[in-house]
Amino acid sequence: MPQADNSAATCYIDGKWVPAADGRTRQIHCPADGQLVATVSEGGRADAEQAVAAARRAFDEGTWSTGSAWDRGDLLLRVADILVRDKDEFARAESLDTGKRLVESEYDMDDIAACFRYFGKIAGTDAGSLVDTGTPDAISRVQYEPVGVCGMITPWNFPLLQVAWKVAPAIAAGDTFILKPSELTPATAILLMRALEEAGLPAGVGNLVLGSGSEVGSVLAEHPDVDLISFTGGLHTGRKISAMAAPTVKKVALELGGKNPNVVFADADFDTAVDFALTAIFLHSGQVCSAGARLIVQDELHDALVDEIVRRAEQIRIGGPFDDDAETGPLISAAHLQKVDDYVQKAVSEGAVLRTGGERPEGERYANGHYYLPTVLDEVKQGSYAVTEESFGPVLTVERFTDEDDAIRIANDTHYGLAGAVFTGDPAKAQRVANRLRHGTVWINDFHPYLPQAEWGGFKQSGIGRELGRAGLGEYQEAKHVYQNLRPGPQNWFSAK
Ligand code: NAD
Repeated sequence: MPQADNSAATCYIDGKWVPAADGRTRQIHCPADGQLVATVSEGGRADAEQAVAAARRAFDEGTWSTGSAWDRGDLLLRVADILVRDKDEFARAESLDTGKRLVESEYDMDDIAACFRYFGKIAGTDAGSLVDTGTPDAISRVQYEPVGVCGMITPWNFPLLQVAWKVAPAIAAGDTFILKPSELTPATAILLMRALEEAGLPAGVGNLVLGSGSEVGSVLAEHPDVDLISFTGGLHTGRKISAMAAPTVKKVALELGGKNPNVVFADADFDTAVDFALTAIFLHSGQVCSAGARLIVQDELHDALVDEIVRRAEQIRIGGPFDDDAETGPLISAAHLQKVDDYVQKAVSEGAVLRTGGERPEGERYANGHYYLPTVLDEVKQGSYAVTEESFGPVLTVERFTDEDDAIRIANDTHYGLAGAVFTGDPAKAQRVANRLRHGTVWINDFHPYLPQAEWGGFKQSGIGRELGRAGLGEYQEAKHVYQNLRPGPQNWFSAK
C-alpha cells in the first residue's frame, strides 16, 4: 500500500523530478519471487492537476506545437539511440517489474526503439495537401495539426511498448502529454522520461505522474484542459474512461481487450499449426491482448491437434526472468492469479473439459511467485463464459467447426475484435477468411507479428481509433492489417520434444 516518504522523486512534472505532493510512495515487487525492486512516488489528484497545467501551458505557448516537425523527429531519433545504448538497463527494469523473461524484454526494447525511429522518420514528411478549388482566385489546403494536451493511461503487460505507441506519435505530431503508466510497472516509464529529458524535450511537453487509475487516471479522463485521452487496458476500465470523458467531449482513443480466434483448417501444416497455437496463447503466460486464446479447429483435425498441444504445453518450462531454462514466466500479481484461476474453475463448472493445467505449479522455486500452469480447456461451448470473457492468462479454449462458413461464424461470435489468425494450406481460402474476420489484425499462417508502419487497433468493443501507422480515412473507415507468412514453419519458441 502507498506509504508516506519523501525520498522517491519519480514523478516528472514541468521538467522537474518531484515526489508526490503528499509524500506518498509505492513499493514495487517482482512477480517472479516477490523481491522488493523499487520504491516510487505515488501521485494523486494534485500531482495530476499540476501536470495537466504544465502540459496545457507548454502546448498553448505554441513554440513546441507549431515548431519544426523535423526537429521533433530528430528528438525521437535521439531517443531511439538512447534506447539502443541503454537497452540492458531498460530490459532488466522491465523484467523485474513484470517478471517476464529477460530475452522477451530485450525483444520489446528493440520494438520500442523501432517505434521511436519510425515516428522520428515520418515526422514532417506529410504536412498536408492542396485542394483543387476550381478557381485561380482562391487557394485551399488541408493541413495536419496536433490535437493538444493528451492524457495517456497504459497497462502492465508490455509496459514500455504501450507507452511508446502513444508517446512517439504524440511527439511527432506536436502534442503535449501527461503519462500515467500502470501502477504495477512504473520503472521503464521513469527511464523513458529520463531519455526524453536527455534528448532535449522542453519542460512541460512530457509529464509523468505515477499512481493509481482511480486517482491519477480519472483526473486525466475528466479534466477540461485535456483534449485527448488515450487509454490501453481492459474493456471495463475503457467503458469507465469513455463515460468520464463524455462531459468534456474529449477525443477518446481506446485499445482494449481481445478474445482472439485462432482458426486452424484440416489442410494446415500440422507442425506449424501446433507450434503457433502454443506461442499464440502461452507467450508471456497469455498476458497479451492479442493472445490466441480461442483455438477454433476443424472437426477432423481436432483430436490430433489438441492431443499434441496438450503434450507440448506440459513440457513448457516456467521460471523467473533470469532463469536460463525458463520459457515463460509468472502472472503479474496475486490478484490476477486468483482471477485466472476463478476463470478456469467457472469454465469447468460450465462443462469445459480440463485437459491440462488448471492449477499452480508445485515446488519451492514457485513458492513466492504468481505462477500458473499452461492450461487447455477442450469442448467449450459457443456463447459460454469461457469463450466470451478474457482470462488474460495461460488458458487456451478449444472449439470445433465443420466448414469455412462455420469457422467464420464462430470466430466472429464475440463482442471483441482485436486480432485473429487463420492456418491453412490453401492461399485463396486464407484470403477469404482473413477478409471476413471482424478483427483489427489478421495473421495468416503466423501469430503475433505487428509492424510499426501498419496500423493496430480493435474492431467492435476492442477499441476506438488506431495506433501505429498512418491514420486511415477518419472515423468512417476501419483499417485492417492483414499479414501473411509466405514461408510458414515451426518457430519453436517453446522447445519441441
Ligand atoms: P486495466 O484496465 O486494469 O488498467 C490499465 C490502466 O488503467 C492502468 O494504468 C490503471 O491504473 C488504469 N485505470 C484503472 N482504473 C482506472 C480508472 N477508473 N480511471 C482511469 N484509469 C484507470 O488493465 P490492465 O489489467 O493493466 O491490462 C490488461 C488489459 O489491457 C487486458 O484487458 C488487455 O487485453 C488490455 N490490453 C490491450 C492492448 C491493446 O493494444 N488493445 C494492449 C495491452 C493490453
